[in-house]
Amino acid sequence: MNTIADNIRQIKALLPEGVTLVAVSKFHPAEAVRQAYDAGQRIFGESRAQELKAKQQLLPDDIEWHFIGSLQSNKVRDIIPFVHTIHSIDSLKLLQEVHIQAAKHGRIVNVLPEIHLAREETKHGFTPKECKALLQGFNPADYPFIRIVGLMCLASDTEDMAEVQQEFHCLHTLFVECKKAYFQKDDSFRELSMGMSHDYLPAVREGSTMVRIGTGIFGNRK
Ligand SMILES: *Cc1c(COP(=O)(O)O)cnc(C)c1O
Repeated sequence: MNTIADNIRQIKALLPEGVTLVAVSKFHPAEAVRQAYDAGQRIFGESRAQELKAKQQLLPDDIEWHFIGSLQSNKVRDIIPFVHTIHSIDSLKLLQEVHIQAAKHGRIVNVLPEIHLAREETKHGFTPKECKALLQGFNPADYPFIRIVGLMCLASDTEDMAEVQQEFHCLHTLFVECKKAYFQKDDSFRELSMGMSHDYLPAVREGSTMVRIGTGIFGNRK
């Protein structure tokens, strides 16, 4: 059987240079994170505030913690002291709350608006139109404690890889439009967070710069 270290090595071998691997450790114990850490992995993604906080306390300080799940405003303060990047900003209210809490700690937190492209109604996020309105109205000078570093999406949960690839293509197109319109001179807007265990290769083909992989590294979640 493959170890966590084997899985990481195999995935990294398939990722082009410059694509960041976020190891999604949600529902797996700190011990599993430790094994990945010992294999050299430093970037981990979690989707629940309590779980992230608990693991952060048990594990080394040089881990870069990313939050990838839906986040309630009243949980922001629990993760703000240490979270590096929040991929799942799905409302202006949440963006503002992240800024308020980050300011209290004097930290700059990276954020990505989550874009809703999938067919499922249950997915969170801004439509492309809402995203453009958000960015149009966003004045970085008003938000010194957050940095919008890119866009994130989840593709439809379907076997139809052509459909999935098409959704990733749409996110890339939206990214290019937003870059041109709102971040032309801002190098920090550079990330396309897309692709999970079963669809990271099509995501990379469509320009993903951050893949979020859980099952492919840690096995099935309990
Ligand atoms: C759980 C999760 C992942 C990882 O999913 P796998 O299929 O286990 O790779 C990626 N992104 C988000 C937003 C998730 O919630």
